[in-house]
Amino acid sequence: MPTPAKPRRAKRRKPNPYLAWAKRLERTRPGLVDFTLDGLASIYGQPPWARRWDPTSELILTILTQNSADVNAEYAFIELRKAYPSNRPIEHHEPGPGWGGAGLPDGVPPDWTLVDMAPLEELVEVIRPGGLPNGKARGIKAALRAIHEARGDYSLEFLGEMAALDARTWLTNIKGVGVKTASVVLLFSFGMPLMPVDRHVERVSRRVGLLPAKATSDQAHDYFLAMLDPSRTHEAHVNLIRHGRLICHSQRPAHELCPLRERCRFVDPKAP
Ligand code: SF4
Repeated sequence: MPTPAKPRRAKRRKPNPYLAWAKRLERTRPGLVDFTLDGLASIYGQPPWARRWDPTSELILTILTQNSADVNAEYAFIELRKAYPSNRPIEHHEPGPGWGGAGLPDGVPPDWTLVDMAPLEELVEVIRPGGLPNGKARGIKAALRAIHEARGDYSLEFLGEMAALDARTWLTNIKGVGVKTASVVLLFSFGMPLMPVDRHVERVSRRVGLLPAKATSDQAHDYFLAMLDPSRTHEAHVNLIRHGRLICHSQRPAHELCPLRERCRFVDPKAP
């Protein structure tokens, strides 16, 4: 008589580490996310969302901000407009709170075909006023090439029809476009609930204790997705940035002005 086959054990699903953290945080420090957002809203208000401008301009401007101040990225974008003008209607940049530059003046958008076709060395010289031009020129050309190869033009408006995480994956599949850049484009051009984590957001969140100590900067994006009510993503991003710039400085943070101090683990490692 043949030996009966052993019943297969059902495979245990690996727990999602981001959701597990969000649950643990709520269990050990209840209400901390809302406490943080409400505290920040008490001094900065709840910023209304408004579309900054079209997603291709947003992507290229965000590449120009990588490791540079927003105001320098603006200089470089203005040079792009001058060097490669298109015959499209004048575009308006709606920077909103959270943007660290002055906001771009209205102007004719660059012709993305000309930028794509420009010799690399020429593009490097054009965007030099923004700093770190070599890597950024490569990044811009790679992004425009990838969009054109996939879509036949340079528009990213189709991303607005996709689910947020699918759209993020589409963008991060482009070489040089990381999860922060993709999240900026999708949050500010389409209002998708994706949290860009820049150095200010990361510093304040780590100090308060919203992120696990070992989380990498990239992982921080997904921890926020698990913790945040999607309707507060834009508010969380903008107000954490403002707080990092105005009060929770990297050196000598102004704890005495901070509405988060009674629950901040940087001030008190045992804070509730
Ligand atoms: S209490 Fe101090 S360290 Fe904590 S969030 Fe406020 S300013 Fe930053």
